[in-house]
Amino acid sequence: MSQKAALILIIMLVLSACVGTQSMLVEDQPLKGINITIDPGHGATQAYDSFRIGQTGEREEWINLRVAKILSRKLTLAGANVLMTRTKDRDVSLGGRASMAIIHQSDLFVSIHHNGSVNDLSMDLPIVYFYGSGDMNPASVDFARILIDSMRAEMDFQQQLAGAVYSDHLIYNSGTSVLRNTIDDMPGVIGEGGFFTNPSGEGRLKSKAYNKLEAEIYYKAILEYFDRGIPSAMCLLPDTLKYIDLLRPIAFELDDGFGNTFFVENSFKVLQDGVQIQSIWDSNSGILTATPDSSLEQNVSFQVFARNLQGNAIHPVPFKFMTKAGYEWLSHEKWFEAFDEAETLYSQAIQNSELDVLDSTLHLYQLSLELQIVHPKARIAEEKILELLKKKQTLVDGDISDEIEAQQSRIREYYPN
Ligand SMILES: [Zn+2]
Repeated sequence: MSQKAALILIIMLVLSACVGTQSMLVEDQPLKGINITIDPGHGATQAYDSFRIGQTGEREEWINLRVAKILSRKLTLAGANVLMTRTKDRDVSLGGRASMAIIHQSDLFVSIHHNGSVNDLSMDLPIVYFYGSGDMNPASVDFARILIDSMRAEMDFQQQLAGAVYSDHLIYNSGTSVLRNTIDDMPGVIGEGGFFTNPSGEGRLKSKAYNKLEAEIYYKAILEYFDRGIPSAMCLLPDTLKYIDLLRPIAFELDDGFGNTFFVENSFKVLQDGVQIQSIWDSNSGILTATPDSSLEQNVSFQVFARNLQGNAIHPVPFKFMTKAGYEWLSHEKWFEAFDEAETLYSQAIQNSELDVLDSTLHLYQLSLELQIVHPKARIAEEKILELLKKKQTLVDGDISDEIEAQQSRIREYYPN
């Protein structure tokens, strides 16, 4: 082979190797670009918690962490951006765990736990919890069902078939802190992969091989969930909107998770503050248009529901807006704040000859009048502005008599008596 031919061959080999690696990367990184928070429950409670412990001394928080670490490595290899709320046997507050997941902009929150029972040591089954009601939290339920199905199929439990998905309101009236505080941002579950209070359960959970199996089950469930596509809704109102006009329709652009608009017929629903309102789906444009109801509240929130053809529901993140009433109220509040601040500065502004203080006092009085809301103190503000302008004339070189006259006629016009 000539040198040139050999060189070409090498270049071709390198090129094909590159192409090969690239396609392999895509295949091997099915979770690329997806943010996941893994939350190993509890941590560093040994000194005071004598409940979360098996008969031979294995602690729940240790099992949680071992499973979570294996899972985290697998997800990272699959391309996911994984955040662990703890990586050591240490305590992290429940609020802190939720905040971390929100800051991470997670697409899914998975809290890993194991169960204990004081009364019934024979209990040996898996449970997956979601927050609140299934109707309001369909995406979390979708993932919970995938997870419980593989837990029941592939892990060893004495009461295999009794494993189930439940609302976390079964544990606490207001649900669990971590799921309640992440619900507005992402779907999430608490997985309980068996009972450490069951002697054979504890035996299994102590084994690294079984921890690996459990991590594998979570991993496969997460893969399957994201493989079905994550449908989403985007509100088409501009970001600059000060308040929402409830007399106009509100439009949402939907994506089935694959850049398309294929959804299950009749799965569309828009709620305004939890109550369903009228909506029309246009599959050509992918726009769901809803007709809001009037509201005397200061704020309203809308949630969009639909299910893609692969079986995944939109996580109904609330779209929150201020109403006109809310906007007026806020302005009113600002009026008072600005007026009070101006009042505390006024005598200083008149007595001292500091232009800075005088200008900011003027600005605050003017701000307090911004919306011309009828208020007993509006006249005081107008008159103080006049006094401040007169004082200002003595401090500046330029002629501001026009401004003073304009203020005088303004007062005459608004308060003729
Ligand atoms: Zn726990």
